[in-house]
Amino acid sequence: MMQDEQDRTATRKEQASLSASPAKRQSKAGAQVAEVSGKALGRMVEAFMRLPGIGRKSAERLAYAVLSMPREEASGIAQAILDLKNNSRYCTACNNITEDEICSVCCDARRDSTRICVVEEPSNILILEKTGIFRGRYHALMGAISPLDGIGPEDLKIDGLMERLRNGAVKEVIIATNPTVKGETTALYLSRLIKPLGISVSRIAYGLPVGGDIEYADENTVQRALEGRREM
Ligand code: ZN
Repeated sequence: MMQDEQDRTATRKEQASLSASPAKRQSKAGAQVAEVSGKALGRMVEAFMRLPGIGRKSAERLAYAVLSMPREEASGIAQAILDLKNNSRYCTACNNITEDEICSVCCDARRDSTRICVVEEPSNILILEKTGIFRGRYHALMGAISPLDGIGPEDLKIDGLMERLRNGAVKEVIIATNPTVKGETTALYLSRLIKPLGISVSRIAYGLPVGGDIEYADENTVQRALEGRREM
């Protein structure tokens, strides 16, 4: 069996066997490992299961991998986690992750101060930066409006954004929230708030994934791709 296939089989099994609440299944998985192979290993499995996308099988595999590592390598991982927690903070202007009060994007005088790209999470900034296309500044909202989860506009970093817009330098706001119900709700809310300030508001285009096949795309995506077409 290929590694990939094994992973998928493992994930399916995990999904099938994991109907209990996350906390319950986590401690059960940890307890099982602890019983057979020791408490420290059980705790490591539980710790890995707290990470997104890591199920029981993957957590066990990671824990055994740490166990078989040279001590310095394992301690490097532990130290990296501590350093991340101790030294990282949110930029006071845009909420990007930084080790200083103001992040490197906000500090960079060569960047275009007339454009702000609004994202849901600070991690989205890195993805946009990797494209190298956008040379303006960012603003992370730290979430999206979601009435079902009890998250309203007042729970997001919208005040900070509006403050940045009121100084008059910004000419365009590009809304790059996710193409989900929450992301759309947030985009609509922001555009209604920002447009009266005389600032142009745009939304990133939706489309088909590069290298993908139109046959496998869902109707909504194809519809959005058609609507977002441009002249060649
Ligand atoms: Zn910043």
